[in-house]
Amino acid sequence: MPLLADVAVPVPLSQAFTYEVPAALAAEVRPGARVLCEFHRRKLLGVVLAVSERSTAIDPSRIKPLAALVDARPALPAELLSFLQELAAYYFAPIGEVLRLALPAIEREQVRALKAQGELDGVLDLGRAKQVGGRKVAYARATDAIEEPGTLRGQAAALLALLRANGEQPVARLEERHGNARSALKKLAERGLVALDEREPPRDPFFRLAEARDVPPELNAAQAEAAARIDAALAAAAAPGGGEPRAGAPHEPRHAGPSAFLLFGVTGSGKTEVYLRAIKSCLDRGRGALVMVPEIALTPQLVARFRARFGDELAVLHSGLSDADRHAMWSSLHRGKVRVAIGARSALFAPVPDLGLILVDEEHDGSFKQEEGVRYHARDMALLRAHRAGAVCVLGSATPSIESVALVRRGKLAELRLPDRAHREATLPEVAIVDLRRYGAGPSGDPLISLPLHRALEQTLAAKEQAILFLNRRGFAPSVVCGSCGTLTTCEACSVALTYHRGRRRDAPAGGAAPGGAAPGAPGAAPPPAGAPAAGLVDERPQGGRLRCHYCDYAGPLPERCAACGSRTLLLEGLGTERLEATIAASFPEARVARLDRDVAGKDRSQAILARMREGKIDILVGTQMVTKGHDLPNVTLVGVVNADAALGLPDFRAAERGFQLLVQVAGRAGRRDRPGRVLIQTRNPEHPAIAFAAAHDVPGFLDREIRDREEVGYPPATRLALLRIDAVDEGVGRGAAAKLAAHARTCPEGLARRVEVLGPSAAPIARLRGRYRFRVLLRARERGPLRGTLASLAGLMRDGLDRNARVIIDVDPVAML
Ligand code: ADP
Ligand code: ZN
Ligand code: ZN
Repeated sequence: MPLLADVAVPVPLSQAFTYEVPAALAAEVRPGARVLCEFHRRKLLGVVLAVSERSTAIDPSRIKPLAALVDARPALPAELLSFLQELAAYYFAPIGEVLRLALPAIEREQVRALKAQGELDGVLDLGRAKQVGGRKVAYARATDAIEEPGTLRGQAAALLALLRANGEQPVARLEERHGNARSALKKLAERGLVALDEREPPRDPFFRLAEARDVPPELNAAQAEAAARIDAALAAAAAPGGGEPRAGAPHEPRHAGPSAFLLFGVTGSGKTEVYLRAIKSCLDRGRGALVMVPEIALTPQLVARFRARFGDELAVLHSGLSDADRHAMWSSLHRGKVRVAIGARSALFAPVPDLGLILVDEEHDGSFKQEEGVRYHARDMALLRAHRAGAVCVLGSATPSIESVALVRRGKLAELRLPDRAHREATLPEVAIVDLRRYGAGPSGDPLISLPLHRALEQTLAAKEQAILFLNRRGFAPSVVCGSCGTLTTCEACSVALTYHRGRRRDAPAGGAAPGGAAPGAPGAAPPPAGAPAAGLVDERPQGGRLRCHYCDYAGPLPERCAACGSRTLLLEGLGTERLEATIAASFPEARVARLDRDVAGKDRSQAILARMREGKIDILVGTQMVTKGHDLPNVTLVGVVNADAALGLPDFRAAERGFQLLVQVAGRAGRRDRPGRVLIQTRNPEHPAIAFAAAHDVPGFLDREIRDREEVGYPPATRLALLRIDAVDEGVGRGAAAKLAAHARTCPEGLARRVEVLGPSAAPIARLRGRYRFRVLLRARERGPLRGTLASLAGLMRDGLDRNARVIIDVDPVAML
C-alpha cells in the first residue's frame, strides 16, 4: 500500500488533498511539516496533516508525489496542529488559511536548500509565505582617519559626510538613498575611512531599557487564594496523564478540580500580580505559558513587569516586529529556548513549548475577535487550546464579558474574585453623573464641556494632579452638514458620514477656521476664546484639514460647496477628540494637554505619550478607547467621560455591555494610589442601566440584569448566533444571494424543524462599505448542533450555488454587528 499524506494547501477550500510520499522522504514527512506540492500546475507550500499507509479510492495515476520537504523538523507541533484543525472546523474556515495564521516565515537557508534540489524554478508559489534572512544587519560608521584632500568624490564623499554628520547607520538604509552604497562603503573601508560591522539589529522597543528585577510583593488574602487555586490546577494538570491532550481520553479518572478560571478583580486589584505568580508556578513545573492582552502596543508597562519578574527570556509578539525578529521569537519558542510568550490576539498561535497555562487579560475586550479573514475569537479559542493541551486557562477582567459570566454560571469556569484595590489606601473613585439636559455649556462655550466638568478640571490642575478625558470619536468634527439644506457629507464608497480632521496646525486658533469660506462651529457653540494658541501640543507632522472616512481609506479636502444645493455654508458638527483637545487647550492655557487616539499613535507614539503622562509631563490627556485600557497612572485623580451616550445607541445587542465596560474601565484609571479619584460621566440618559450601574461600581448588578435581558430577547449567551455576511458591488447580486441563502436556511431540515431561526435577509446597518452593498442573514439557535448542521448545508450552497460576484462570509459567534 502506498504511503499517503493529507496536505492542506493555501486555497480557500476546506478539505485536504492527498499526495504520495516518495520513499526518500518517508522517514521525514510528519504531520505539521511543510512540503512543496503540485496543485493545478503550480507548486504550493502545504502542510502535512496526516500520514498513513493505506489504500484509496482515488485513481492512483492521479495522485502526485510530494515535490519536496521544507522543514527538517515539523513547523507546527502536534498540539498546535490539532488545535488549528479544530479551530478551522468550528469556524467553517478553510484549513489552509487557518494554518497560515500559525506558520512562521520561510528561512533563507530553506529556500537555498530547495533551490539546490532544483525545486525552485519559477513555478513556485510560496502562497504569500514570507521569507526571512538571518538576523545580522550590516552597519557602517566613519572612523577617525582623515582622507587626503581631493581624493574622494561622488557617492563616496557624500556617504562619508553623511556618516560623519549622523553617526553609525545601517547599510541597508544608506542603500535606499545611494544605490551603490555597498561598493562605495567597501572602498571607503579598504582605505580605513569607514568601519563596517555585522551584528544583531537593535532589540525591539519592549527591550530597549534594562529592567531591574523586582521583589514580589506579599499577596493580599484574595490574591493568595486566587494564586493558590490556579497553582492547584497547574499541579493537577501536570500530574501523570495530565500533560497529554485530554481530548482523546476525556473520561480518564482524574481528581483535578477546575482547570479554567475567570479572575474577576476590580480595576487596580492586582490581577497582574496573580498572573505573575501563575506563570511562575507553571514555569516551576517545567511547562510554558502564553499571555494574551488586547493591544500589546498599549501595554509596555505590563511587559516591563513581566521582564522585571522573569528576565528577558520572554517572546513579545507585536505588530512592530520586523519579519526577522518575529521569526527569531517564533523559533526560540519552537526550539524550547523561551517558554513564555506575550502578545495580542495572534499570540494564540505561538508555538509555546509544553503549554501549561494561557492567560487572557482584559478578556472582555472586543479586539480578541478577528474581524477579517478567519474570524476567530481568541478568548474562546484560548479556552479550547488550553483544554486540548491539558493546560490551565485564566480569563481576567474587571468587567467580565457576559459570555464568560455565563460560563461561570454553567460551571464551565471557576470564579476567582479580587474585590478590593491592592494598594491599601486606594479606593474606587467617586462617580458623579452630569445630566447634560440640566447643565449647559461651561466657560469654554462647548456644550460638551459642562460647568461641573470645567470646575473639576480647574481643581485638578490647581492640585497639580492629572486628568483623563474620554471621548469615543476621533477627528475634529464627526460630521459636516450643509447649513442651507441640511445634507450630510457622506463617503462615496460607504454609507457613513465623513469626519473632518483638522490635522496639526500650530498657528491655527482653537476654533479651527475651515478652508473654503466654510463657517465652522456646531450650532449653539460659541467659538472658544479667540487667538488662544492650540497650546501644549506635541510634535505631530502637520497636515491640512481633510475629510476622512473611518471605514475605508478615503481622505479628501473639505468641499467648497454643498454637493446637493451648492451652498457655501458647511457646518462642522459635533465634537471629536481633535477638537476637544484644542478646546481644552484654549480654555486651560496653562495646562499641558495631549491626545491619545489612532491618529496620533503610531508604533512608538502611544508608548511615548503614556510615558510622558506617567512622568507628569502632561496635565490633561484627551483620548478615545486607547485611554481606557489598563494603564496604571498613579497621579490621575479625575476622569471625565465627555459623552457617555455615544456608544449606547448603536444597533447592536452588545451596545449596553460595551458601553458599561468602557465606563468602568475608564473610571478605573482614577485614584489608583493614595489620592482619591473622581469620575464625571456626562450623559443625557442618566437612567440607562449601563450608566447607572457603572456609577454605582455595581458590576455584578449590571451582569445580572444584562444576562436577564439577553435571555428575554434571545441573544447570546442565551442563544448561539451565526451571521452570514454577504456583499457585492452590484446591489441586486448581493440581495439575490442573501435571499437565496435565507431561503435555503429555512428549508434545510434544521430550519424546517424550527430548531434554527432565520432572521433576514436584510441590509446591514452600514449598508454600503468600500463600494460594496452589504446584506446579512442571521441564524439563531438554542443549541450549537442544529446551527452547525445548517451552516454545513449552507457551505455547500456557497461553494457552487451562488452568483460568483457575491461574497459570502460565515461569521460564527459574531461580535461586530454593524
Ligand atoms: P489590575 O491588573 O488588577 O488592574 P495591578 O496588577 O496593576 O491591578 O495592580 C495595581 C497596583 O497594585 C500596582 O501598582 C501593583 O504593583 C500593586 N499591587 C498589586 N498587588 C499588590 C500587593 N499584594 N501588595 C502591594 N501592592 C500590590
Ligand atoms: Zn446644501
Ligand atoms: Zn468610506
